Amino acid sequence: MARKKTPMPVAPPIVQTSNFRFETVAEFEEAITNEYSTCLYSRGRNPTVDLLREQLAELDGAEDCLVVNSGCTAIFLSVFSQVKAGDHIVAVRGVYTWTHHLLTNIMPAYGITTTWVDGTQVQEFEQALRANTRLIYLESPTSWVFEEQDIAAIAALARSKDIITVIDNTYFTPVYQNTIKLGIDISIQSASKYIGGHSDTVAGVICASRLIIEKIYRSEFLSTGAGIMPFNAWLLLRGLRTLRVRLERIRQSTPLVVDFVNAHPAIEKVFLPAGGFGLFTMIFKTGAREDIVRFCESLQHIPMAVSWGGYESLVMPKCVSIPPHLFNPLDEIHRSVRLYVGLEDAAAIIDDIGRALEKMYRYR
Ligand SMILES: *Cc1c(COP(=O)(O)O)cnc(C)c1O
Repeated sequence: MARKKTPMPVAPPIVQTSNFRFETVAEFEEAITNEYSTCLYSRGRNPTVDLLREQLAELDGAEDCLVVNSGCTAIFLSVFSQVKAGDHIVAVRGVYTWTHHLLTNIMPAYGITTTWVDGTQVQEFEQALRANTRLIYLESPTSWVFEEQDIAAIAALARSKDIITVIDNTYFTPVYQNTIKLGIDISIQSASKYIGGHSDTVAGVICASRLIIEKIYRSEFLSTGAGIMPFNAWLLLRGLRTLRVRLERIRQSTPLVVDFVNAHPAIEKVFLPAGGFGLFTMIFKTGAREDIVRFCESLQHIPMAVSWGGYESLVMPKCVSIPPHLFNPLDEIHRSVRLYVGLEDAAAIIDDIGRALEKMYRYR
């Protein structure tokens, strides 16, 4: 076979290797000494992962970034790396389930306490601060009723007191909400949602200054082995290529679906943040859990599942996390169903929801 220079691939290669080889002892020694600056072993750096890190850092307007094996890992490392025993955290009450678990059940065992605030007023943060407050944790909007925080004002308050800020920016992504520009120190995302975009991988992103990222990398990141492996990184690189067009499509179809359910007599109200898209929550006008069950089970095309951000629209009723005998129709949250508007035709999504609502009425 004649040897010719191989043309460069259009799609990035998956460098599926655990380790990298060195030709000289000097190069090997340098890599061992400074694992932040070169590929040595894929628990640290890997070319496929590095390409993804560059693209995600650029998207966020951040100096550097780490990609880890879940959004929860990103949250854990961002918080854990910034606090020590005796420190205090102020966090938003409506945070993601496992963030709540981390701050409520895990951190106190290490002497780190949290004060919860609703987060809608900057003064709440100011009042919750203590001499030992080290970190403010935000999630804007939160992912069930979509409460928002004044990110820039809270970031400025934290800066003035040398407190580090962390935000979960999964809902809007840096495409529609650039939290680093707003003054946040550490911006995280669950890449399992829009970045991956196809419901086929779980990953998390940590974006921050080079100083913060290098510190996390050299310590908690290498020590926990939390990094993403090359194939999963490649799936995210593929997802990133269509991120903007997917989000744009969802931004166009969400208002059509929201207008339809808002006008429907079975729906009391809808929670959607200002400029929101994709994920929204409907409150059903009913006293019976059975109605919600009937609605969800009558959908022909929209699956019931956790998560969001992929191709398929998804539905998740709150009642799945409430024991049936505790279902309280006086609490509107118990009557809530969260919907993710995916990439299908808006008309098809509306049709499926409309028919399921009709079925729900028919059996009443
Ligand atoms: C899904 C999600 C997470 C957790 O991410 P995983 O990738 O599932 O670990 C955290 N925060 C928000 C807002 C999420 O939607």
